[in-house]
Amino acid sequence: MAAKGAGNFKFKAEIRQLLEILVHSLYSNKEIFLRELVSNASDALDKIRFRQLAGEEVLSPDTELDIHVSTDKDANILTVTDTGIGMTRDELVENIGTIAHSGTADFVRQAQEAKDKSQLDSVIGQFGVGFYSVFMVADEVIVTTRSATAPDESWVWKSNGEGTFTITPGAEDAPRGTTIEVHLKDDAKEYADPDRLKRIIERHSNFISHPIFVGEDRVNTVEALWREPKFSIKQEQYDEFYKFLTFDSEGPADVIHTSADAPIQFNALLFVPSKSMDLLGGYQGQHGLDLYVRRVLIQHENKDILPEYLGFLRGVVDSEDLPLNISRETLQENVLLRKISQSVVKHVLSHLKKKAENEPEKYAEFWKEHGKIFKLGYSDFAHREDFAELLRFETPAMPELTSLASYVERFKEGQKDIYYVTLSSRDAAQTNPHLEIFRKKGVEVLFLYEPIDEFVMDSLAVYKEHRMVSVELADLAWLDELPDENKSDDDSTKPEAMTEEQEKTFTGLLERIKEILGERVTEVRVSKRLKDSPVCLVSPDSHMTSGMQKIMRMMSKDESIPPKAMEVNPDSPLIRNLLEIYQKDSQDDYINLASEQLYEAALLQEGYLTDPHGLVSRIQDHLTRSSSWYKGR
Ligand code: ADP
Repeated sequence: MAAKGAGNFKFKAEIRQLLEILVHSLYSNKEIFLRELVSNASDALDKIRFRQLAGEEVLSPDTELDIHVSTDKDANILTVTDTGIGMTRDELVENIGTIAHSGTADFVRQAQEAKDKSQLDSVIGQFGVGFYSVFMVADEVIVTTRSATAPDESWVWKSNGEGTFTITPGAEDAPRGTTIEVHLKDDAKEYADPDRLKRIIERHSNFISHPIFVGEDRVNTVEALWREPKFSIKQEQYDEFYKFLTFDSEGPADVIHTSADAPIQFNALLFVPSKSMDLLGGYQGQHGLDLYVRRVLIQHENKDILPEYLGFLRGVVDSEDLPLNISRETLQENVLLRKISQSVVKHVLSHLKKKAENEPEKYAEFWKEHGKIFKLGYSDFAHREDFAELLRFETPAMPELTSLASYVERFKEGQKDIYYVTLSSRDAAQTNPHLEIFRKKGVEVLFLYEPIDEFVMDSLAVYKEHRMVSVELADLAWLDELPDENKSDDDSTKPEAMTEEQEKTFTGLLERIKEILGERVTEVRVSKRLKDSPVCLVSPDSHMTSGMQKIMRMMSKDESIPPKAMEVNPDSPLIRNLLEIYQKDSQDDYINLASEQLYEAALLQEGYLTDPHGLVSRIQDHLTRSSSWYKGR
């Protein structure tokens, strides 16, 4: 009869899929399996140290905390041993077999979707695939473990990675911790070579805070870089540590290394990645800083120190002043941690400000990669001023990005407000009717491209007493008074001023258009802003911009088209022609056709047109009419 607790087990379905992918992948960078095993060993050592420091009793408390890697070249076996927390029988069954990691399903899906080897490689590289990666090099793995919390048992886990594993009781005198015995595949014999293993550990595990030995030799040498004085650290060391921490193949764009003594002691070593990690996809959960207390890792990827908008930063925070026995659950409420957080945020913002002042090109690169996340800071009221200074925008004239401060410096005489426009792209500025008067008067406008920008403008509301104003809601009377700075299309073709009679009929034409469009528009009125386009649509609500309205409607899943005010440009040749037609016959069908067309074209420009069929058939109707006039010219 089998011993109590022993048995044959099937891997959970997701894990089977994961193994299937790993075992058969021709992943070029198989050596990372060792990084995963060493990192698990290091975690296990962190856990036991944590308990000991918290005053808990553990098995063999005087055992050195270290990791030993040894090899048997003849038998093609590699062994990784730690003196860490170990696993109980149940933990063994769960941790390596039945409970899949939260990212596993994601990994499997992305790996299955990969089109070729290089895509698959990059999926494997991006996810830390953990323990199971050992099956890329092993045809059998034997895990022997003794838990520090259930000291009278040791267990042996065995699998060839083909779908099942077995558990049997281990030796009575097994030491505390875990040994992983890796039986190497024929094509993975190189991993039984100690020199090769040393190089792999130096490359991937140099910053593990516990000693790692290969045979008799200690391999990793660097500890707690964040505690070293800044001047003694070379850029290469920062780069190496960053790569160790993030698995990024590129070095960081920027390093923020700082410390504070009062009111609370901490060291922080933070990195700005060169590329946004957000784009990698499936990586979203993996952010936050590693929190250490007196060099002991307390929490990996802590999400409380940095607010979401600084979530692009990676790195380490270490404090002397936090209690070592702090539980992960109460961290969030910890007052000291909150103080550290405030101080770290302040440091980061002032670092970014210096960067923006001293190295504007580098700052612009930062903005392009991380600006999207950073903009979430609009909700951080405590740092509103710093936040506003750090924002960057495109404008029509400036090829480089502008800050609000430099925008204000370029104000036109008498300008009080900061103007912005929401656009789908830079090209859309060319045809945006709201910008015509700004172009003509040479008044600069900030270009916004993302929905979040509306929230940023809305919540900032003012910058140094200048209101943020959407072009739609601009003070047109003031703009009108400004001298023209640029010619617009209508200058050469601008018709003569209307006679008094024409003006009266014009009012009639506006009413006629309103009658045709009915409830779809709130009113039809003369425009002051239009210089080239015949008509445009304007939000009838003087508080909410169209962009914000669009976001609100999107959130409430409202797909109807909101009624808008239509503004008509009396100097547009097209409108003058309509006026003549209207003078002859106020009910002429052509006015219907033209009004519908103008309305829908304006909707299209505003991004509201969902069904262009009417527009297309009307264009064809127009072309039929105009071509018959044209051929008879
Ligand atoms: P991860 O380390 O990302 O959680 P792994 O698949 O590498 O995922 O490991 C799964 C779990 O198995 C770990 O979370 C840990 O609980 C346990 N484990 C793995 N290796 C060891 C070890 N050497 N000592 C103790 N527990 C371990």
